[in-house]
Amino acid sequence: MDTTSDRPPAGALSGRTALVTGAASGIGRACAEALAEAGARVYVVDLAAGPAKELAERINGVAYVADLADPAAVDALPDDADIVVNNAGLQHVAPVHEFPPERFALIQRVMVEAPFRILRRTLPHMYAQGWGRVVNISSVHGLRASAFKSAYVTAKHGLEGLSKTVALEGAPYGVTSNCVNPGYVRTPLVEAQVAAQAAAHGIPEEEVIERIMLDRTAVKRLIEPGEVAQLALWLCSSHASYLTGASLPLDGGWTAH
Ligand code: NAD
Repeated sequence: MDTTSDRPPAGALSGRTALVTGAASGIGRACAEALAEAGARVYVVDLAAGPAKELAERINGVAYVADLADPAAVDALPDDADIVVNNAGLQHVAPVHEFPPERFALIQRVMVEAPFRILRRTLPHMYAQGWGRVVNISSVHGLRASAFKSAYVTAKHGLEGLSKTVALEGAPYGVTSNCVNPGYVRTPLVEAQVAAQAAAHGIPEEEVIERIMLDRTAVKRLIEPGEVAQLALWLCSSHASYLTGASLPLDGGWTAH
């Protein structure tokens, strides 16, 4: 897809600093690349050291290798970002009665507590300068549930609440906070889910994408990470200052049902 004409002018974010979590792969990487292309200096935060350092070098950013499940590591991240993209996430597929509690807790720590910890430390900087952007990469699963994904659905609904609260508190200081809610995006996270869903539903892997993933989606294709990144980038633009506390479905019509 050619989105070149939709992009903000090169340098629109020059002088801005963006912190992107889970930036070594998939949607996070696409966001980091798009923000850097628009001129932002990007803090590339990820557990995966090699890919994070490689990306940071390529986009002239700075890599921070951190496990977002570790509160001390989260609290050691920089607190001077003008833009925060809360993106890191993981999935576990199992029915509630078989769901490992420690896995449930881990998913809440990485996908809810870490965004909260990052924002409580970066918002004062944004408030002081009167400008900031918070982009939370939520999911259709922040708006709708699916069977076997209790921890993920719970975490994404929690992130939605955090995003709206930050929108209300940040508005007087020029800070917006929004969620982007993709359907299934072609990333390693989804590729791993195909096998897990096949096991949970007892169907062959080749049926998972067509019958399960795209069942409720009117547009019968996966989204590309770059398409999600372009919406995140637009939310950071000067045109988006009145849009806050919103959740923007990028779901091919899933939530139209
Ligand atoms: P991905 O697996 O490609 O990338 C996730 C990144 O997060 C990886 O680089 C991983 O190392 C990092 N990460 C995971 N746990 C971490 C931790 N504890 N500390 C630091 N980094 C950690 O995934 P993706 O598909 O790009 O997903 C990114 C976000 O988008 C997630 O929040 C996911 O829920 C959301 N999302 C994805 C889809 C999809 O279909 N892929 C759909 C909707 C929402």
